[in-house]
Amino acid sequence: MAKHIFVTGGVVSSLGKGLTSASIGLLLERRGLKVRMQKLDPYLNVDPGTMSPYQHGEVYVLDDGAETDLDLGHYERFTNAPLDRDCNYTTGKIYQTILRKERKGAYRGQTVQVIPHVTDEIKECIRKLATPDVDVVITEIGGTVGDIEAMPYLEAIRQFALDVGKANCLYVHLTLVPYLKAAGELKTKPTQASVRELRQIGIQPDVLICRTEREIPQEERDKIALFCNVERRAVIEEKDKEFSVYEVPLSMAANRLDELIVERLGLVQAGPLNLDDWKKMLERMRTPEHEVTIALVGKYVRHRDAYKSVYESLDHACIYHNARLKVLRVESESVDADSVASILAEVNGVLVPGGFDKRGVPGKVAAIRHARENAIPFFGICLGLQCATIEFAQNVLGLADANSTECNPATPHPVVAMMNEQRQVTQIGGTMRLGAYECKIKPDTKAHAAYKAVLISERHRHRFEVNNEYRPQLEAAGLVISGTTPDGALVEIIELPNHPWFLAVQCHPEFKSKPTQPQPLFRDFIGAAVAHAHQTKG
Ligand code: GLN
Repeated sequence: MAKHIFVTGGVVSSLGKGLTSASIGLLLERRGLKVRMQKLDPYLNVDPGTMSPYQHGEVYVLDDGAETDLDLGHYERFTNAPLDRDCNYTTGKIYQTILRKERKGAYRGQTVQVIPHVTDEIKECIRKLATPDVDVVITEIGGTVGDIEAMPYLEAIRQFALDVGKANCLYVHLTLVPYLKAAGELKTKPTQASVRELRQIGIQPDVLICRTEREIPQEERDKIALFCNVERRAVIEEKDKEFSVYEVPLSMAANRLDELIVERLGLVQAGPLNLDDWKKMLERMRTPEHEVTIALVGKYVRHRDAYKSVYESLDHACIYHNARLKVLRVESESVDADSVASILAEVNGVLVPGGFDKRGVPGKVAAIRHARENAIPFFGICLGLQCATIEFAQNVLGLADANSTECNPATPHPVVAMMNEQRQVTQIGGTMRLGAYECKIKPDTKAHAAYKAVLISERHRHRFEVNNEYRPQLEAAGLVISGTTPDGALVEIIELPNHPWFLAVQCHPEFKSKPTQPQPLFRDFIGAAVAHAHQTKG
């Protein structure tokens, strides 16, 4: 029978519940256990797909096309736990199910209520992952203890222990132990208050993970244990990581969290902990031999998490190449033909990530032109491919008004246009071309050199595509279409042969990169950037 770990957060938001959950998942996997991971989000959107990146950060896309919370990106980068749409539920999605059932008469005349109907539905979401082959299901509860919206989730996980037995559940609570400069002290009161709140609703946490800027002295830890009614060894200090988030599992292991979990849940099948490759990866990160500066030209650069997986994938590629990464975040609206050369003067690579709508597109096009004409490595992702196509049409084909119909519906040269099956779509949510699709790679291209395969699969999230009517013209002028859908109908990858590395993809390869296994295109893009850095220096 699968065991369950529930991760909640208290005191403030943004303590890193996702990273904590992912790190616990990694430790358990590295002890030979089969883990599944999920996040339950208390907000009312059915999924984050309709939310602005400013509100929510990146939307993380899974193979099955689910648009999910960015914490699932942490799960995938840290663990091998398979993810699908059952791994992220929101209150909106849960109510949608309940209301559909109600309309069908499934509740047989009952009054439908938060307890038991909503809580039953939440428990059902958790049970879905607990298949017989799984050792541990880790369920992260979004939001903060005390939020009105989170109440049904906390009630559901409280009940869950009654259903499956207390010995099969472990409650991990993430909390903050702030340092007050004026008092020169670490403060444990907020942690006590947050645990009190949990205990009031019937949940006694088993483990407290205390986020802190400073070391928590033993006596303070003992005090937390006493006041919060947890074992002393279960008060885990989690100091801020200045170097890398990938250090979190190591400090947890140093605090013997894996041992505690294995013991408390009776996971007798667990093997010894092996973190060798993870430690090696961190070691490489600490001893870089090169330095590269990559400009990320996007619309949401002010939001730390809007391009989360892109930043992570750049990091992974840099670990592979032993390079220190400097990211220059360029607000695309600040770029134009006059400013581009000075803005991009010091960079070794230009990356244009995904995005929507016309704002900032001219700046992206100007940046791509600069990269193309000055032999600076360029990598375009999704909207980045569309902008590269627009740029090539405008400046190489000489079609001055070429554009995407997303930016200018009246353009005389719609080189990027809405896909046919998208034209009938009226509902916004969950209706893009989403999830994993195969792509056929042309031999003797940069795409082929990276993937070393003729058929690959990547995740997608878009409505627009390169307009097939312009393919002959684009190709005749030197643009190589190095990847298409297997039937050839949609352009998936474009590149330029007479350039050190100029490649753009319609998919989102950033969703398939791991710190110990960089995504091939990111890897080769950074490889080209390292070469560029050496040339320009020397
Ligand atoms: N807005 C573009 C489209 O829908 C690109 C989407 C993206 O970059 N994810 O096709």
